[in-house]
Amino acid sequence: MLTAGHILQLIRDGSCRTRKELIDHTGLSRSTITDRVDRLIEAGYIHESGVASSGGGRPPSVLDIDAANRLVLVADLGAGHAHVALTDLAARPLAEERVEMRIELGPEAVLSWVRQAFQRLLDRTGRPRSQVCGVGVDLPGSVDHTSGKVIRSFLMPGWDDHLIGEALRSDYDVPILVENDANAMALGEWWSSWRRTRALILVKVSTGIGTGVILDGGIYRGAEEAAGNIGHVRLRESDDRVCTCGSRGCVASLASGHALATDLGQRSSRDVVRLVHAGDPTAIARTQEAGRTLGILLATAVSLLNPGVLVLAGDMAETGEHYLTGIRESVYSRSLPYTTRNLEIATSSLGSRAGIVGTAVIVMEHVLSPEAVDAALAAGPQSRRGPSGAGARLTARPTTDATA
Ligand SMILES: [Zn+2]
Repeated sequence: MLTAGHILQLIRDGSCRTRKELIDHTGLSRSTITDRVDRLIEAGYIHESGVASSGGGRPPSVLDIDAANRLVLVADLGAGHAHVALTDLAARPLAEERVEMRIELGPEAVLSWVRQAFQRLLDRTGRPRSQVCGVGVDLPGSVDHTSGKVIRSFLMPGWDDHLIGEALRSDYDVPILVENDANAMALGEWWSSWRRTRALILVKVSTGIGTGVILDGGIYRGAEEAAGNIGHVRLRESDDRVCTCGSRGCVASLASGHALATDLGQRSSRDVVRLVHAGDPTAIARTQEAGRTLGILLATAVSLLNPGVLVLAGDMAETGEHYLTGIRESVYSRSLPYTTRNLEIATSSLGSRAGIVGTAVIVMEHVLSPEAVDAALAAGPQSRRGPSGAGARLTARPTTDATA
């Protein structure tokens, strides 16, 4: 039997826009559909608006997601930045804040800033904390996404085994989801630009190198949540450069932003981007070479998964075409033409906002999943958060709709 949560999915994915379409699509009776739809409206998940084109008679009203009543707070943490956003339930940002911050300051300092920044976003938009129905955090390391625990990251000393949700739960008694940053960025890119493709690989090249894989619309995490961890594949064992992981010849020690910065006598991957933009010929040549080196590895990934899209994200995506050109050269010359004939190799369309958007989508998909919606509806109007914190408290429409 299709529950109200399932009916919501049909409205979300555009399969059905009216009560009549729901009846025709599901085969459920008019009274059952009316019951499901009315409960979704009462709980503020959907609203009826406008009119659909009709062949005469009273025009039916259109059912649409009510994205404005529930809010999501997300934090995108990188090796050298922290970016927070308040979004609606369509992952549209209402307010954002971004600062340069070293994640190696440790979890207490960084998450304390995140908590304060979350509150500033709510204050700026005049929205109450009670409207927040989910929180998401993405990090540059492997995480156990079910427990929200950091498993390992060479970029995040002091964060191993840290439970991210614990620091935020005293403020927000809602689902708190934690994800690897490349996974989040991959989902953000897929969701905003490439929903027609069944397989997408995103490679993030900033201080380090990570990849995220989207298969059939979902993040592919692997057996141990370590899928996509290609930065420490040892490509040249005879190389004398020591990687952040302690090995020699890792692709990260040859082609990451950190490796390029070291080679060029710079401090960070951002400095490398500045040199390339200034037209420095050595920086441009080294950037293209790094792209070719990483491309050798990506040719294997492309041959294995046959993605429709390969997205370059992170600081190196901002070097214009230079890093991307190197990747293209290696991927096309080292893969079967049959595998790559329809492959698009592109830079991130969301840029520095890919992590924020992707993490908001992760929270949105969780909160609006049939299971979470049905649990929230079963908990009744007095407690829309539900027993596991799913859903959100039923609130009146906001009197302010401030955006920033
Ligand atoms: Zn390494």
